[in-house]
Amino acid sequence: MTCAISIPSITSSLRAHLTQHPAAVAMERLPCSSCGSTHAPDSQHVYNYSQEVAQDFVCSICLMPFVEPYDTPCKHTFCKSCIVQAIAASKKRTCPLDNKEFAGEVTEASVVFRNIVNDLLVECVHCHERAIKRGSLADHLRTCPRFPVPCRHHQRGCGAVIHRASVDEHLNQCSYEELRHVRRDNLTVFARTRSAPS
Ligand SMILES: [Zn+2]
Ligand SMILES: [Zn+2]
Ligand SMILES: [Zn+2]
Ligand SMILES: [Zn+2]
Ligand SMILES: [Zn+2]
Repeated sequence: MTCAISIPSITSSLRAHLTQHPAAVAMERLPCSSCGSTHAPDSQHVYNYSQEVAQDFVCSICLMPFVEPYDTPCKHTFCKSCIVQAIAASKKRTCPLDNKEFAGEVTEASVVFRNIVNDLLVECVHCHERAIKRGSLADHLRTCPRFPVPCRHHQRGCGAVIHRASVDEHLNQCSYEELRHVRRDNLTVFARTRSAPS
C-alpha cells in the first residue's frame, strides 16, 4: 500500500510544534468545566465570589459558601463533600458543629436553599465577567471565549491548549491540521519516530 502524502515535507514544522507544545499534557491541566478552576477531579469546586456572602450561607467546615448543601438530622447544613468526608474521617455519624451523634442519613438541603446559594454571584476566572450566577457558571464556561480548550488534534498528539476564541488562529499554524487527512496509525508511527532520540 502506498501513501500519497509526502510526510517528510512537514517534518521540521511538526518537530517545532512538538517542542513548543509537549504532547499528552493537555488534558490534565484543563480547568474544571463546572467551576473553571483547576482542581483534582474528586475535590470541591472552587469559586471566585464577586459579592459578599452572608455568614448563614457559609459552611463551617470549609468556611466557603455551601456547595451542594446537605442537612444533618440535627438540622445543620454543610457542603455535601465536607460532611461526607467528616463522617468518613470520624468513622461515626457525628455532626461537626454540635458533636451530636445521629443515626439517620444526611439529606439534600431544600430546593429553596439550594437555589439561594446557586444564585450567588461569581466571577469567571477566565474572562473576568463578574456577575454570573454560580448555578449558571457551567453554561457560561461552555461558551466563554477565554476558556482553555485542547486542540481538536489532541488525540493525534497536539498538546496545545488554546483560548476558545483563538482556536481558528491555532489551527492555521497547527502542524496536525496539515496532517488531518493522514490515517491515524501512520501519524502515530510518524510521531514516535520523531520523538525517538537521534
Ligand atoms: Zn470545579
Ligand atoms: Zn464546606
Ligand atoms: Zn448538628
Ligand atoms: Zn468567562
Ligand atoms: Zn494543534
